[in-house]
Amino acid sequence: MKPKVIIRRCDRYDPGLIAGIIAEGMAELGVKPRGKVLAKPNVVLAHREVFPYAYTRPEFLEGALMAAKKVGGPEISELGVGERSGITVPTRFCFDQAGYPAVLRRQGAKAHYFDETPHRRVAVGAGGLRREIYLPRPVLEADFIFNLPKFKAHPWTRMTLSLKNFIGIQDDPHRLLDHNSFLEHKIADINQAAGQDFIAIDGIVAGQKMMLTPDPFDLGAIVMGTNPCAVDAVGCAMVRVQPSQLIHLKLAAARGLGPLDLNEIEICGDFPLDEVQRRTENFQFCLERVDDYFQDGPLTCTVGAFPEAHSRDYCWGGCPGALQEAMHILRGFDPLVESKMGKVRYVVGRVEGPLNLAPDEKVLFAGSCTSWQGEIDGESVIIKPSYLPPQAHNPHRRPGNDLIFKTVQALGRCLAGRGRRWLHAPACTMSVADHVHYLASLGGVANPNFDLRLLLPINLAYLRMRAGRLGHRLAG
Ligand code: SF4
Repeated sequence: MKPKVIIRRCDRYDPGLIAGIIAEGMAELGVKPRGKVLAKPNVVLAHREVFPYAYTRPEFLEGALMAAKKVGGPEISELGVGERSGITVPTRFCFDQAGYPAVLRRQGAKAHYFDETPHRRVAVGAGGLRREIYLPRPVLEADFIFNLPKFKAHPWTRMTLSLKNFIGIQDDPHRLLDHNSFLEHKIADINQAAGQDFIAIDGIVAGQKMMLTPDPFDLGAIVMGTNPCAVDAVGCAMVRVQPSQLIHLKLAAARGLGPLDLNEIEICGDFPLDEVQRRTENFQFCLERVDDYFQDGPLTCTVGAFPEAHSRDYCWGGCPGALQEAMHILRGFDPLVESKMGKVRYVVGRVEGPLNLAPDEKVLFAGSCTSWQGEIDGESVIIKPSYLPPQAHNPHRRPGNDLIFKTVQALGRCLAGRGRRWLHAPACTMSVADHVHYLASLGGVANPNFDLRLLLPINLAYLRMRAGRLGHRLAG
């Protein structure tokens, strides 16, 4: 039997309306939540003013939880909502900003912050990049996984739908492991190790271009199904992307997780695909190389060659995409930032030959694969690469990627580089947060990490996160 994917019209964030649509979708697909039900929204980052479109809206979460309770009834023993937000920001902060605590209280659901819960080793299976990965205990103990992605374009992977949403179930030590030209393989690994029982995508207001700072797009749709490959293939078709262009979807399909071909999927619902496609004619993506993307402003990029044979010309999934997100974050906090920023050259990959810097231009050598040799201000500069292939990283011995530690490390590097106009930040991948620190420092603009709208609430959430982590440890 072909897997079914339902596209339903929904033009507003009304929890009752959303609950009705999702309950009907569950009934049509013969799905009944039971036992420990774990909902996984996309809350990669949330802030009411600066990142209002990055996350699954609270009304959508509430509607989904109401639908689960209505359909599952007494067969549900526990209702939970779990996530690990991105760029090391405590998930508690993002849940607060997304307005989730009130929803959880009203629906009697429990929050599972995956940056606090223990994680366990799980086998990936045949064809995986890694033999084992780490998954949070609530995911492993769940009887029913209810995936609630946000419908968004993505600067690294073109789209983020149901498969990509599972990046948010990894803990901090593993989040950035293989988050380079192997990102697509990593997404396939996680989905191979962790199944999902029902998917409802929040496509009421979709996100265009960026994933942390998307532009809103009135799509007016909820997409539902039980097979993530089928759902994502239809999601691609909705915005006229060939499913095979979504590399992680192609990899997941090749590993037997579901179909890629729309002929192998039954598409139903009250929102016909051709009508959706007419609506999304102007839906925008941002799958652009950074040397093309940043040209006329203070930031320009020199992109060299990359170490892995499958992606010599560009590292999709790594530092360049993080640079785009970081620049959009700076713009989010200060729309005029580019008029205030000094010139910065971003150098990534193996670069040969002179950089032809302007006299006042600063340089960020980004990432551990980067190498260059030459003169800056009459001084000889040698940037040596320290990139290691995936097999050289032991997944069982990973750095913690702690928020405070990483902040201190980045600021220390900026301080040590005072008096010079270049800075080398070796990491693979260099996170969005690190990019924000370095761009702000080299460009001489305000660092959003110290914006009063973030500083106190994030640090309070960090302390609560540490306490929560300790509590889980003590409880065993
Ligand atoms: S260090 Fe190089 S290979 Fe690693 S993520 Fe950055 S650009 Fe990609």
